[in-house]
Parts: sequence; C-alpha cells; structure tokens
Amino acid sequence: MSKIIAIANQKGGVGKTTTAINLAASLAHLGQECLLIDMDPQSNTTSGLGINKNDLEKNVYNVLIDEVALEDILQNTAMDWLDIAPATTDLAAAEVDLVNMADREKKLKIALEKFQKVYKYIIIDCPPSLGLLTINALVAADSVIIPMQCEFFALEGLGQLSKTIFALMQSYNLELEGVLFTMFDSRTNLSQQVVEEVKKFFQEKVYNTKIPRTIKIAEAPSFGKPVLLYDPNGKGTQAYMDFAKEFLSREMGTK
Ligand code: ADP
Ligand code: MG
Repeated sequence: MSKIIAIANQKGGVGKTTTAINLAASLAHLGQECLLIDMDPQSNTTSGLGINKNDLEKNVYNVLIDEVALEDILQNTAMDWLDIAPATTDLAAAEVDLVNMADREKKLKIALEKFQKVYKYIIIDCPPSLGLLTINALVAADSVIIPMQCEFFALEGLGQLSKTIFALMQSYNLELEGVLFTMFDSRTNLSQQVVEEVKKFFQEKVYNTKIPRTIKIAEAPSFGKPVLLYDPNGKGTQAYMDFAKEFLSREMGTK
C-alpha cells in the first residue's frame, strides 16, 4: 500500500509546492518510489519538474471530472523513482464542475482506490484554499504535512489554523504528519519566537529540520528541477535531504 500525504496550508506562498517537489525528490533520491499529484490549478509542481503543460493530453482535471484512470496521466520526471500526475490551469474549472457531482469530495480517493500501481509515497500538493480540490486531497490522504513560513503572520490566526486542522483530521480520519518551517532565518529572534509559539500548538509534531531561505531553492523551478538536481551540494539540497531523513525516521518510529 502506498502512504498518501497531502501538503496543505490555506495560506499561499508558504512553501507547499516547494516542499512537495523537494520532499518527493529527496525521498526518491533515497530510493523511495514516489508519485507527486498536482492538485493546484496554478500547476507550479508540474512546471517546476520541467513538464511542458502544452504537451499534455490529459491531466488531474480529467481524473476528477471525466473518470480517466490515474495511470493514464502519469508522466516520468528526470528522476528514476519519481513520477507526477500533472495539472494545468484546466484544473481551476474542477472546483466549479465538482460542485454538482455526486461524491464530489471523494473523486481523488476513488481514483486512488482504483489505482493499480504501488508507490511508497504519494505526495499531493494542495492549492491555497479550503475548497473542493483541497478537500479531495485531504479525503484521499492518510496524513498531512503543514509547511509554515517563519514570520509574524504565521502566528496570526494560528489558533484558527490549528482548530481547522484538528476538525479536518477528525472529519476525514487524517493524521497530522508534521509541521515544517520553511524560508527560515536562524539569525532573527523573531524566527525563534515564532517556532516557540507554534510548538505550543503542535508540540513534537514540529520537525527539527528547518528549511532555510536560499536563492537556489527559489531558482530551481525555473530550470524545471528539484533543488537536488539544480544545486546538488547546496544548503537547500542539504536541508530537504535532512527533512526527508527526519520524515523517514518518524515513519520507522511509528511502525
Ligand atoms: P505555496 O505553494 O505555499 O504557495 P511556494 O512553494 O510556491 O508556496 O513558495 C512561494 C515562493 O517562495 C516561491 O516563489 C518559492 O520559490 C519561494 N520559496 C519557497 N521556499 C523557499 C526557500 N526555502 N528559499 C527561498 N525561496 C523559497
Ligand atoms: Mg503552491
């Protein structure tokens, strides 16, 4: 059985897509076969892995709305152990088209139940909202990773975010895999304060690994690569590899 993990936070720009791409690539680099599913109409995960959206005949939209098999939309990436179920801007229409459909919250789950191919991990990148696309991801997932940008605004509404997450976890039988700090600057007191406050809510669920803000992490998608292929010896690659290892060591701990 594949373990299915959604990368979610209703805020935009917190590092969901960057984390989806680089966690999956780092796990693949460690020999764990991964599938990325792009559930965001912005489709930055798809372009960030060098997939040309104009060449795609079908994408996640067709899986959700037209009952196309997930197998039929998969694309290879530059990495042996990493495949992607790509999205295009078409996916924006799914948010509307799903509304009147039966099982509108379960379309991705149903597609995954029929899916024959087994991956070690299936990682789903979510859009920055709590609409039907995110809900489809959370319903399908076993657990959720919440990336959080280390800034003052992360604290605003933190109580609300944790309430929302715990409510979703209950409704959808979802586990909180962990909370990951992204774009971290260890030099500022503010960063440390934010970490301490967030730990009060999420405690040991906060990963020890923190992803620093680096130019290479930001540049890699424009070359269609995860950071480990773009800048193999850099700090960003090291951080996401450390994160993948911490993620795996927690996995071992729970089995
Ligand atoms: P989300 O998917 O939550 O909207 P993204 O992963 O797209 O967030 O990140 C938002 C922006 O911040 C992007 O331009 C991305 O390249 C940049 N970014 C994300 N993580 C880092 C990082 N660790 N260092 C530098 N830039 C980053
Ligand atoms: Mg994104």
